[in-house]
Amino acid sequence: MAIIKKVEVIEFTYKMKDMGAGFNNAHNHIGYLKGGEISLSKYAVVIECEDGSRGEYVALWGATRPALAQTLQLVGDLPGRDSDNREWFYNEWKRRLCHMDHMGQGPVDIALWDLAGKQCGKSVSAMIGRFRDKIPAYASSYHGDHSGMLDSIEAFTDFAEQCHALGFKAFKHHGWFDGDAKVEAALIRALGKKAGDRLVLMYDGASDLQTFADALYVGKACDDAGFFWYEDPYRDNSVSAFAHKKLRSMIKTPLLITEHVRSLEEKCAFIMAGGTDFVRADPEYDMGITGAIKTARMAEAFGLDVEIHACGPAHRQVAGAVRNTNYYELAEVGPKLPNIMPPCYADGYEDELTSIDQDGCVSIPDGPGLGVTYDWDWLNAHAAVRHVFEKRD
Ligand SMILES: [Mg+2]
Repeated sequence: MAIIKKVEVIEFTYKMKDMGAGFNNAHNHIGYLKGGEISLSKYAVVIECEDGSRGEYVALWGATRPALAQTLQLVGDLPGRDSDNREWFYNEWKRRLCHMDHMGQGPVDIALWDLAGKQCGKSVSAMIGRFRDKIPAYASSYHGDHSGMLDSIEAFTDFAEQCHALGFKAFKHHGWFDGDAKVEAALIRALGKKAGDRLVLMYDGASDLQTFADALYVGKACDDAGFFWYEDPYRDNSVSAFAHKKLRSMIKTPLLITEHVRSLEEKCAFIMAGGTDFVRADPEYDMGITGAIKTARMAEAFGLDVEIHACGPAHRQVAGAVRNTNYYELAEVGPKLPNIMPPCYADGYEDELTSIDQDGCVSIPDGPGLGVTYDWDWLNAHAAVRHVFEKRD
């Protein structure tokens, strides 16, 4: 038992070159823009105990301003409490954020797991129960753009070929934000024709198609092209179990839904209603490693596979402790852009096109906690705001 002494939430900013919102219908997304530059903000959670142990996590895909507000709402609970009480925190915060989406809960839970792993000298996956040391990765593309990167069907098929040449055995693309069903279906068919014999292919509609009819039309293209899964097709925002049950009955390609369905209970209800074939879980989005493992075990009880959304050290640790999962999402990659996640590791950890081994796999770090070493020189140099919560004597 170690009592938490202090928690710091550190906001930081960094710049990315050749990026911008320079294409139509970009809504809240960004993409390739030659010569452009954008500033990105993320945050780190650092937990220190009275015995000198320390847990850290740099929030990645879910590190938005609304998530930060939730994180700040929760971390004040930690000082003075036993750092082992992850399940108690999970349930306390589940109630605390009951009117919200819980997106700020994950980063704190992940930092607590990193802390626990470091306290006992084991990786998080080893603490939970390790199943694997590595997992096949799929290259998960940036969305299509109109700016000179993934701006045509040929650009996508060329990129799939490039990923195959690099050693990937699976490839997922996000289409264009425009959500034009005819264009999306043509791209899916072209990828199937050009690369379907060498790559396992997946399509993520990212809820961009407009109507159920669009989703059905594009789903039939997935059938024709032999896609492995069809993810979050259209603008119900991928939360209607009724509609996806109906879609499943009309196409052959397995559906991967529930990335946008928040909470263990709602995901379970979605499965019970027949709305998906594969289940989604993400340690940042789904209330931490605690929540993601609950989701994985719930899916296991149904005999279903859970596919871990996005990438990062926490995501790898979850994949390392789960049997019923197939791939690691190496997101987001493109022929002219690196991953937009912060280069905040001092040990060479990264999620880039070159991060796979000769089998097309990424490794599960086996060092204590998350198994990564953060680059505090870089993080401190980019820090913008520090929120400090200390134990009162
Ligand atoms: Mg997705």
